[in-house]
Amino acid sequence: MNIKKVMVVGAGIMGSGIAQVCIEHGLETLLTDVTLEVAQNGKAKIDHFLQRKIEKGRLTQEEKDKAMALLSVSDHYADGADAQFVIEAATENVPIKLKIFAQLDEIMNEDAILATNTSTISITKIAGATKHPDRVIGAHFFVPPPAMKLLEIIPGILTSEATEKVAFEFAQIIGKDAIKAPDTSGFLVNRMLVPMQNEAIFLVQEGNRPEDVDASMKLGANLPMGPLALTDMAGLDTVLAVMTQMYEDLGDPKYRPCPLLKKMVNAGLLGRKTKKGFYEY
Ligand code: NAD
Repeated sequence: MNIKKVMVVGAGIMGSGIAQVCIEHGLETLLTDVTLEVAQNGKAKIDHFLQRKIEKGRLTQEEKDKAMALLSVSDHYADGADAQFVIEAATENVPIKLKIFAQLDEIMNEDAILATNTSTISITKIAGATKHPDRVIGAHFFVPPPAMKLLEIIPGILTSEATEKVAFEFAQIIGKDAIKAPDTSGFLVNRMLVPMQNEAIFLVQEGNRPEDVDASMKLGANLPMGPLALTDMAGLDTVLAVMTQMYEDLGDPKYRPCPLLKKMVNAGLLGRKTKKGFYEY
């Protein structure tokens, strides 16, 4: 398949980052969200990050202008009906994703691939909301999408080999290293990573300072970033949604979300996106 146009559904942390990756690799990209204002905020974030790349000498003004010219925003999926590849990056919530996929299945051309950036929800389940589950696949980016090399490709039970092949081609176009991951809760990375973040939150609940918890993993396990700083970057609401889904799917108490995580989400302490989480921004 010749991928020229991409639609990204959801213009939050991940959707805007994914759209940035797409335009930087020459793909015409439509970024959509529930309101035009949120989609425009996503575009403003991309503009800001590309400007910072210019200031650091990693991008020219001409390259930025060329990339930004490929980006448009909308609050209607129908504006992206001619895209060959869709990446859904909306809120991690089963009913929201099922509704989006049922709508996309109606709107998009029959040969378009429908990918989801879900962190934990079963691809097979999401595909079940469509009449064409063969064209649904997981394409799981990592935060922040422009910096992280990996793309997990997750076929569902009914995903066709042709769809899988296109997803790997897409990874190549956007300069990511793709790994095939199983359609089980948390796939590969989150199955290991998010329980570690949850455990770090238990340590804070037990009275340890976030700075010490993070420093221990940076200095002792050579992680580039501590698990609590990473949780702030990912969004505590998303991390809670992932832990809750893994606990529900896998049924093992080791996946129970930490009570402090729940409390902080209830208090609106979501991390960088609300300027306060384990740290202040
Ligand atoms: P976010 O809260 O930053 O953004 C979600 C966006 O989805 C919001 O702008 C919201 O308005 C929008 N949205 C909600 N319903 C929608 C709909 N019906 N149509 C269009 N847009 C809609 O969340 P995020 O961190 O960007 O996460 C998005 C997805 O990416 C989730 O599935 C999440 O699990 C996954 N993901 C997140 C991370 C991370 O570290 N944050 C990493 C990998 C994958």
